[in-house]
Amino acid sequence: MIEVTNPMHRLWSDGRWNKLTLAHGCYWGKCSFCDISLDYIARYEPLTAGLLCDRIETIMAQTGQNGFHFVDEAAPPALMRDLALEILRRELTVVWWTNIRFEKAFTTDLCQLLKLSGCIAVSGGLEVASDRLLDRMKKGVTVAQVARVADHFTTAGIMVHAYLMYGFPTQTAQETIDSLEMVRQLFAIGAVQSGFWHRFAMTAHSPVGLHPAGFDVQRIGPADGPLLTTTLTTLTHWEPTTTVLPKGYGSRCSIICTAWGWSYRWLTGLRSGYRLLPCRPVILKRPLPMLPRMYCVAIHSWSGRVTRPR
Ligand code: SF4
Repeated sequence: MIEVTNPMHRLWSDGRWNKLTLAHGCYWGKCSFCDISLDYIARYEPLTAGLLCDRIETIMAQTGQNGFHFVDEAAPPALMRDLALEILRRELTVVWWTNIRFEKAFTTDLCQLLKLSGCIAVSGGLEVASDRLLDRMKKGVTVAQVARVADHFTTAGIMVHAYLMYGFPTQTAQETIDSLEMVRQLFAIGAVQSGFWHRFAMTAHSPVGLHPAGFDVQRIGPADGPLLTTTLTTLTHWEPTTTVLPKGYGSRCSIICTAWGWSYRWLTGLRSGYRLLPCRPVILKRPLPMLPRMYCVAIHSWSGRVTRPR
């Protein structure tokens, strides 16, 4: 799928990956937006590195493929370390990637070891790039820690994809703008190479869904059904911006960067009293001479859909 420009989404879609999990469930199990009351998150049961390598060898023999996507919700660092050592001990030639939390445990040394064992990419939740909201989410990381850990992976030659979220209960417009700028800087220094913003969804089995009042948000429907979404007034305001910007940050293509500059000016000019963020001049790395007109039309049509937050 060569038309997929997001590096991590392209990795998901390109080629064939054998699927395995290192563990059942999530060893953290605390995030307030996550369905942590469900068994697939709550019941944490890790495998051993030896058993995992047995399965890897069996699957490679069956499929002839040595690429593995470990589809854990959050792969445990200690088990990743043990797995890497076991892969190297057995002299297996594999390529693998997985979801992580940006734990302090991912030191430079551990990231180098993971790379040696065949790790090529990780994806993890930076979510809102705001310490206040990360704390409210019980994410257990800070923005600074994410930046440091992401840099350890990147320095080791492992691609980093950041899951991002907007519209979390009580998130303000200013925090959303700050988050956009924070993520732009992470791309600019090369700590993150891929990212995607998801709109917050209030799911029924998450702490927010189960106890909305504790998060200063109301459940307004639907009455039944497994999934619930909020209709926070500001959610749709950010959709065009948060969708387009990670592409520009990652690819540095000229017109998307122009979109950033445009969005930045538009967003920060919404109200007098908005704190202005530092914005560097756009560097056009790869101009697209054939396309600017078309993209400009697209950008203007996005602007028409965005309205002033209350
Ligand atoms: S969001 Fe990820 S890290 Fe947090 S509890 Fe859910 S699975 Fe675990």
